[in-house]
Amino acid sequence: MQVIVVGGGVLGASAALHLVRQGAQVTLLDGKAVASGTSNAAGGFLNEWAAGAFPTWGDEELAIERYGLEFYSSLADEGADLDYVQTGAIWLATTPETWASFVRPLAEHPGVEDRQRLEPQEVEYLTSSVIPARGVVGALLHPRGIRITAPKAARAMVDRFREAGGQLREHTPVTALLSEHGRVTGVRTADGALGADLVVVAAGAWSKLLLRTAGYDAPMVPFTATRIISQPVGLPRTLPMILFGEFSFLWLRENEGRALWGCEYEVSPRYDFIASDDPELDTISGGAVKRTLEITRAAATAIPVLSEVRALAVSHGLPCYTSDLRGLIGPVPGLEGAFLVGGDNQAGVTHAPGYGRLAAESILDSESTLTDLTPFRLDRFAENSPNAIAAAAAETVFDLVGRHTSPVAHS
Ligand SMILES: Cc1cc2nc3c(=O)[nH]c(=O)nc-3n(C[C@H](O)[C@H](O)[C@H](O)COP(=O)(O)OP(=O)(O)OC[C@H]3O[C@@H](n4cnc5c(N)ncnc54)[C@H](O)[C@@H]3O)c2cc1C
Repeated sequence: MQVIVVGGGVLGASAALHLVRQGAQVTLLDGKAVASGTSNAAGGFLNEWAAGAFPTWGDEELAIERYGLEFYSSLADEGADLDYVQTGAIWLATTPETWASFVRPLAEHPGVEDRQRLEPQEVEYLTSSVIPARGVVGALLHPRGIRITAPKAARAMVDRFREAGGQLREHTPVTALLSEHGRVTGVRTADGALGADLVVVAAGAWSKLLLRTAGYDAPMVPFTATRIISQPVGLPRTLPMILFGEFSFLWLRENEGRALWGCEYEVSPRYDFIASDDPELDTISGGAVKRTLEITRAAATAIPVLSEVRALAVSHGLPCYTSDLRGLIGPVPGLEGAFLVGGDNQAGVTHAPGYGRLAAESILDSESTLTDLTPFRLDRFAENSPNAIAAAAAETVFDLVGRHTSPVAHS
C-alpha cells in the first residue's frame, strides 16, 4: 500500500515509522523541516498521565503511555540522541487544599503501583535542595517518569523511518488533498501532485486547513502554549521533573543547567488561533511571557531559584484540544482514503509512539495488541458543529486548569 503522511512532527514521524515497519510504502512530507512545528516547543515530560491527572483518560491512554515510555527507552538504548534521562517526576503541593484536590488523587489511583509519597525532607534531598522542605505540604514521586528533547526524538524516528525504506521530503507543503468521487487519491504539493492509496494527515494545528480543502472540519482547536528556557542557574542534571498543583500548573525541568519551564495562562495568545486555520508560529505575540514570569515569581516561594530566572529563549506551540480531551485517530468521515492522527491535547510527545502504532495497525488491518481504537475515532463528534466543539474544548480545558490553580493564577 502506498501511503503519504503529511507532517513531520512527533505524531507524523511515529505514524510513518510504524507504517513502514509494518510493510507499507510511505512518503513523509513536511512543509518546512521535521519537528519545526509544535513539537519544537515541547517540554519533553513523559509520564503515566492517565493514572489520575486527566479525568477523561482511561486504560487506553495508560496503555499508550506505557508503550511510549518503552518506545523512547528502546530508542535511547539503540543509541539515538534524544537526551533521554529517567529522572522521575515529583508532583508537588504547597497547600493542604492542593494536596487534597490534585496530588492525593494521583497517589490513590489504582493504575500505578510504584508511586511514592514523599516527606518534605525527602523532596529537599531528592532535588539537591532546589526545593527546600519548608515550602512543601505534600509530594508524590513517580520514579518511571522520563524526559526527552522532543524535536530530537522526532528526528530519531524519521532516521529510522528512512533506514527502513521510507521516503522523506521536507520543504514540501501540501496545499490540498486530491479526491475523486469522495475518495482521496493523493495530495497537491508546490512541486506537483503525488498519488497514494491513503493519506495520513498529521499536520498538527495545520491539519484543519488541509482537511477543509476536502470539506471536513476537524473537531479540534489549537490553544497556544509556551516554553521558556533560562540562563544557566546551576540546576542539577538529576533534578526530577517538577509538576505543581498550583501556580497555574507550573512545570519545570533542568536543561543543561538551565531551567526549562512553563505554565497555564489565560491571556493572549492562549486562545488567539481558535478561529485561525493557518497560524504562523514565528509571529505569535502577546502577554504569555510576562504572565508566565509573574506566576514564576510567585512560585519562587517554593523554589527559590525561580526568583533569579530570566527568559532567554521562548518557544510557542499550538497543541490541539478536543472537547473530551481524547485523541483523534481514525478514518476521516465521508472521505475514504484519508486518515487523521491529531488531537494531541498537549501530550503528543508522550502519546506519539502509541498513536502512530494504532494508526498503522488500523490502516493495515492488523489486529492491535496495544489497546482499543474506538475512543479515538473521529465519528464520535459527528453530531457536533465546529463552533460547538471549539467552545466545549475551551470550557473543558478551562475547567481542568481551574481545578489546578491557586489564586495566583487568576489574580
Ligand atoms: C509549551 C509546550 C509544552 C509541551 N510539553 C509537553 C510534554 O511535556 N509532554 C508531552 O507529551 N507533550 C507536550 N507538549 C505537546 C506536544 O508538543 C504536542 O502534542 C506535539 O508536539 C504535537 O505534535 P504534532 O506532530 O501533532 O504537531 P507538530 O509538531 O506541529 O507537527 C506538524 C508538522 O506538520 C507540518 N505541516 C503543517 N502543515 C503542513 C502542510 N500543509 N504540508 C506539509 N507539512 C505540514 C509542520 O511543518 C509540522 O512540522 C507540549 C507542547 C507545548 C507547546
